Amino acid sequence: MAVAQQPSRPDVYRLYIDGQWVDAASGETFENINPATGEVLGVFAKGGEEDARRAVEAARRAFERWRKVPAPRRAEILFRAAELILQRKETLARQMTQEMGKVLAEARGDVQEGIDMTYFIAGEGRRLYGYTTPAEMPDKAAMAVRAPIGVVAAITPWNFPFAIPTWKIIPALVAGNTVVFKPASDTPWMAYEFVRILEEAGLPKGVINLVYGPGSTVGETLIRHPEVDLISFTGSSEMGRHVAQVAGADLKRVHLELGGKNAVIVMDDADLDLAVEAILWSAFGTTGQRCTAGSRVIVHRAVRDRLVDELAQRTARLRLGNGLDPETDVGPLINRAAVEKVHSYVEIGKQEGATLLVGGEPATEGELARGNFYKPTLFVDVKPQMRIAQEEIFGPVLSVITVEDFDEAIRVNNGVAYGLSSAIFTRDVQKAFKAMRDLDTGIVYVNHGTIGAEVHLPFGGTKATGNGHREAGAAALEVYSEWKSIYVDFSGRLQRAQIDEVKVD
Ligand code: NAD
Repeated sequence: MAVAQQPSRPDVYRLYIDGQWVDAASGETFENINPATGEVLGVFAKGGEEDARRAVEAARRAFERWRKVPAPRRAEILFRAAELILQRKETLARQMTQEMGKVLAEARGDVQEGIDMTYFIAGEGRRLYGYTTPAEMPDKAAMAVRAPIGVVAAITPWNFPFAIPTWKIIPALVAGNTVVFKPASDTPWMAYEFVRILEEAGLPKGVINLVYGPGSTVGETLIRHPEVDLISFTGSSEMGRHVAQVAGADLKRVHLELGGKNAVIVMDDADLDLAVEAILWSAFGTTGQRCTAGSRVIVHRAVRDRLVDELAQRTARLRLGNGLDPETDVGPLINRAAVEKVHSYVEIGKQEGATLLVGGEPATEGELARGNFYKPTLFVDVKPQMRIAQEEIFGPVLSVITVEDFDEAIRVNNGVAYGLSSAIFTRDVQKAFKAMRDLDTGIVYVNHGTIGAEVHLPFGGTKATGNGHREAGAAALEVYSEWKSIYVDFSGRLQRAQIDEVKVD
C-alpha cells in the first residue's frame, strides 16, 4: 500500500521508493529499540530483496532526469535541506540519543556535522570545478569535466546515524547521481528523518530512495545489482572486504570507510593533564563506538605511572546512564550483541596477561539493567601484539602500552592492520613534525585526541581502514564523479594527435 505523506510519528515507518512511502513487499516489520531502556521507539517496514530491486529501478529511471538538472539548481534543494536540519537540530539530537544511545551533547554534534557537510557540499553546486587546458593541435579545445556516476548504493553503520548518511548522500546528489540508502537496522529512525527532510526540501521522486532491512538481503541485493554503479560503504573491515570482492566481479565503483585501532602517543615531555582529558574523550566518548576512538595509549615509560594513576581514577569516576540525562558521561552500547562482544575481548585481554585496572564487566545496577551498559574499562601492561591491542573492540575498553622512546612509539602505532587516526602529545616541535610524517594514518592530531574531524578536510584511512578514497572535504567529489575529457576540434580537417606534425613558424 502506498501512502503519499508520512507523519512525524507514524504507526509504521515505511520505505521510501520512487517518491512514495510504502510498506515492505513482504509486509514484514521490525522494532527499533532504545539501547538505554529497552523501550520500543517505533515499528519499521522490513525491506527485502524485492524492495531493494524496486528502489534501484526507481533510482535508475530518475538518474536520466536528475543528471541533467544544472548543478546549482540541484544544490538549491540541498541548501533547503541544510536549513531544515538546522531548524530541527534539537529534535533530531534527542531522537538520536534515544535510538543510538550517545549522550545528548554528542548527538547534537552528530547532527551539526550533518548540517556542516550539507552546507559545505551544497556550495559545490556552483563549483564542481573541471578545467580547460591547451590542446596540442591548432584550432582545437580541450577540457576535463566531472560527470556523475549513476546509481549509488549508500550503506551506512549505526554509530553516526545522521552525519555519515549526509557524508555520502549529499555529495552523491550534488554531483548528479541518484541514491538508494540502506541504513543500519539499529538506527532506522535517523534515516527516516533525513529522507523526510530531503523530500520536503524538494528532491524529485526516485532521486533518493530508502530501504531499511538486513544487510544479508537488502545490502546483498544492492551490492550485486547490475544497475548499481557505485557502492559507498561504511562499516566493518570484514564486511568491507566482502563488498569489495562482490563489486570487483562486476567492476563496480567501490568506496570503503572501515575500522580503526587508533592510538594516542604520550611522550615524556607532554602536558599530562591535557593528555588525560583527550584520552578519556577519545576512548570513552560515544562509549568507544567511534571508528576514530582512541583504544590504545602508547606512553613513554618516564611518565607511565603518573598517566596511568590519573587515567584509572578518572575512568572509575565516569558516570554511566541514559544519554538524555545531563549527568551522564557514557551512554549504553548499541545492543546486547555488542555487550557480549566487548566482554569477550575483556576476557581475552585477561587471558593474554594484561592487567585489568578498572571496569571489565557489564553495568547492571538499578536502571542500568534495562539497557546495554558496560563499565569503562582500563587495561595496563598491554603488549603491542595482544589481540586487545590489535583488533577493533568498538566499546569502552582502553589499553595502555609502555614504550622506551619516540621511535618505538611510532612503530607500535603503525604496527596494526588499520590506519585511520592517530595522536601525539609532545611539546617538542621536532618530534611533532616527525610524527606528522611517520604516523601511517589518514588523520593525525598533535596535542589533541584521535576524534573530532572537521567536514571540510578529507576523512579516511590507510591500510585496512579503506580502499584509498576519502570522504568529506572536496575529496568526496572524487568518489561521486568521474572525469570526462572532452576535445573539440574546430579546424575543419582531420588532425591526428601525436602523428601529424604541427609546424611552428
Ligand atoms: P557492519 O559492517 O556490521 O554494518 C555496516 C552496514 O553494512 C550496515 O548497514 C549493515 O546492515 C550492512 N551490511 C551487513 N551485511 C551486508 C552485506 N552482506 N552486504 C551489504 N551490506 C551489508 O558495521 P557496523 O557494526 O554497522 O558499524 C561499525 C563499524 O563501522 C566499525 O568497524 C567502525 O569502525 C566502522 N566505521 C567506520 C567509519 C569510517 O569512516 N572509517 C565510520 C563509522 C564506522
